[in-house]
Amino acid sequence: MPAVGVTLRDIYRARQSISSIARRTPLVPSHTLSELVGSSVRLKLESLQDTGSFKIRGAANRITNLTAEERMRGVITVSTGNHGRAVAHVALQLGIRAVVCMSELVPQHKVDGILRLGAEVVVSGGSYDEAEEQAADLQERQGLTMIEPFDDPLVIAGQGTIGLEVLDELPEIDEAIIPLSGGGLFAGIGAALRSANPSVRLCGVSMERGPAMVESLRAGRVVDIVEQPTLADALAGGLGRDNAYTFAMVRDTIDEAVLVSEEEIGTAMAFMLEHHGLVVEGGGAVGVAALISGKVRPQGQHGVVIISGGNVDVRKLLRVVGHQA
Ligand SMILES: *Cc1c(COP(=O)(O)O)cnc(C)c1O
Repeated sequence: MPAVGVTLRDIYRARQSISSIARRTPLVPSHTLSELVGSSVRLKLESLQDTGSFKIRGAANRITNLTAEERMRGVITVSTGNHGRAVAHVALQLGIRAVVCMSELVPQHKVDGILRLGAEVVVSGGSYDEAEEQAADLQERQGLTMIEPFDDPLVIAGQGTIGLEVLDELPEIDEAIIPLSGGGLFAGIGAALRSANPSVRLCGVSMERGPAMVESLRAGRVVDIVEQPTLADALAGGLGRDNAYTFAMVRDTIDEAVLVSEEEIGTAMAFMLEHHGLVVEGGGAVGVAALISGKVRPQGQHGVVIISGGNVDVRKLLRVVGHQA
C-alpha cells in the first residue's frame, strides 16, 4: 500500500454513500477493439453516467459526507467543466448552495450546463490556477466548503467505486486503461483493483498537449505545465501546488503512462461514434486512442478501457468526425 492512500473499505463506504445519486454504468465488449489488439477489450461507459461523466461519484461522496453546518453554508469548486457540473448536480439534489469557478478556456456549452443546474458560475482568468485563486478567496469570505476535483480521499474513494463495479462483472480483469489528469480517477480505480489483484496492470493515458501528471512523474515532483487548447479539455489543468494525495498514489501504482496526439484523440472519438454509436468527449476517448494507435499493447487476456465522459459539443464532434471521413 502507498503511504498516503485510500483503502478498500473507504471505497465500499463510498459505494453506499453515493448509491442513490450515481448510477452503475454498463461494461460492454468492444469486438472491433478486441480484434484489433488480439485480446478481450471491454469498455466501462462513464459517458452514460448522470451528468455525462464519472465526476458525480467523487462529488457525491464528498458532499454527502459534509456536516450539517457545512451543508447550510454551501460548497464551492473550481472546474474545467465536468467536475463543476457534477458538484452543481449533487448540490441541487441535496438542496445545497453551490458556487462554481472556472477559467475562460472552458467551452460555453459546459458553462451553460452548470447554470441550468442552478449553480452560481464565476468565470475568471486564463488558466485553472487563476480560477483556483479566485475560488480560494470566495471560499474564505463566504464560509463555503471547497470540493476538490481530485486531490481528496473522499473524492478518490468515490471514483474508486468504478473499480468495484468492474470487479463485480469481471473479477479476472488483468489490465485497466485509464484517462489521467489530476489522478483521482486513476488513484481510485487503482486502489480498488489492486486490492483484489496486486498484479493487475494500470495504464494511464493523457494528451500530448499539457500532460501535468506525466510531466510531474518524469520530474519526480509536481511541476507546473503550460495549458494548451486540446480536444481532451477535461484533462487540462495542473495538479495544484499543495497536491497531497493523487501525485503520490499515481506514482506508486502506475505501470505505464502514454501520451496521445490530437489526431489520435479525434480518430478515437470517430471510432466510438461509428463502431459503438456512442458520443464520447476527447478526454473520455484517450484510452481508445492509445489502443488504436498501438501506443498501448495489452499484456493480458482481459482489458478494460475507462470511457470517462461524453460531454462534447455536437458541432465540435461533427467537425472532428467530418475531419476523419
Ligand atoms: C476529470 C476527467 C478525467 C480525469 O480525471 P482525474 O481524476 O483528474 O485524473 C478524465 N476524463 C474526464 C471526462 C474527466 O471529466
